[in-house]
Amino acid sequence: MSIEVNHLTHTYNPGLAYETTAVDDVSFTVARGEFVCIVGHTGSGKSTLVQHLNGLLKPTSGTVVVDGVDVTGKDTAVIEVRKKIGMVFQYPEYQLFEETVYKDVAFGPTNLGLSEAEIDERVREAMALVDLDYDTFAQRSPFELSGGQKRRAAIAGVLAMRPSVLILDEPTAGLDPRSHDDVLDLVCGIRAQTGCTILLVSHNMEDVAGLADRVFVMNEGRLVRDGTPLEVFADGDYLRGIGLALPQARAFAERLAESGVSIDAKRILTREALVDAIAGVAGDTGGAGITGMGGDPS
Ligand code: ADP
Ligand code: MG
Repeated sequence: MSIEVNHLTHTYNPGLAYETTAVDDVSFTVARGEFVCIVGHTGSGKSTLVQHLNGLLKPTSGTVVVDGVDVTGKDTAVIEVRKKIGMVFQYPEYQLFEETVYKDVAFGPTNLGLSEAEIDERVREAMALVDLDYDTFAQRSPFELSGGQKRRAAIAGVLAMRPSVLILDEPTAGLDPRSHDDVLDLVCGIRAQTGCTILLVSHNMEDVAGLADRVFVMNEGRLVRDGTPLEVFADGDYLRGIGLALPQARAFAERLAESGVSIDAKRILTREALVDAIAGVAGDTGGAGITGMGGDPS
């Protein structure tokens, strides 16, 4: 399973005064099993881009080839690709509509025409993947659940299709910190258990630094950076220039380095790496901690 995007351009409202080129000549290939995070300022084209990958939007020009099949053409190809590529939209809980969690999660498999037994197996499997206890939640109304539980139920509905690629568009938007962490943990768990390829759109650079094998940076419809987190976050001035923050640990390490601490900020992206580096510096000074690091305490 690979995804190849070739010179993809998408223009909304072509020919009208308010036409917008939301995606502008974007090309990339994602290999099976990669974890890709897509970042970019609001309006940079992230959602428009990912909606092409399962045939939801048609390109103005360019192609999207999934597993060797061009999904931008025939409707039969689009139907096939939707079975392989699961899409979790922003605020997916708005799409919950059945009277029970079971029926909502079963919606996709039911449309595939599977037997009752197969549907049941998939609902149980998907609920387990999102850590919603079957006996507790299957017969509840989705509307009785907490915000985080609703979101997990909506994600289960996508997983019940057993996708080999999972696309999540800002899956933690609007969640409290605890539910935010729960959702990311479950994305990592799903990946570990199913080996599926993940494309995750995120605003949160901490999350991206900790999760991604590869980061795509979008700006004004263009794919302006494609690399490992260390490569992409190496150019802090550029990212700040297009309205993106650095991971806090990197920004903090840069401040320490500027104030004379011997810390290699370019290697630090996560809180864990920052703590290790500070512990190393403290160790080098014979346990004297972070004293003598530039700045006059008086
Ligand atoms: P992002 O997800 O990065 O915030 P979007 O893909 O939603 O970016 O939007 C990219 C650009 O396309 C923005 O200028 C936005 O206003 C415009 N746009 C998005 N959806 C539509 C639409 N359905 N109709 C017209 N313009 C749209
Ligand atoms: Mg968006």
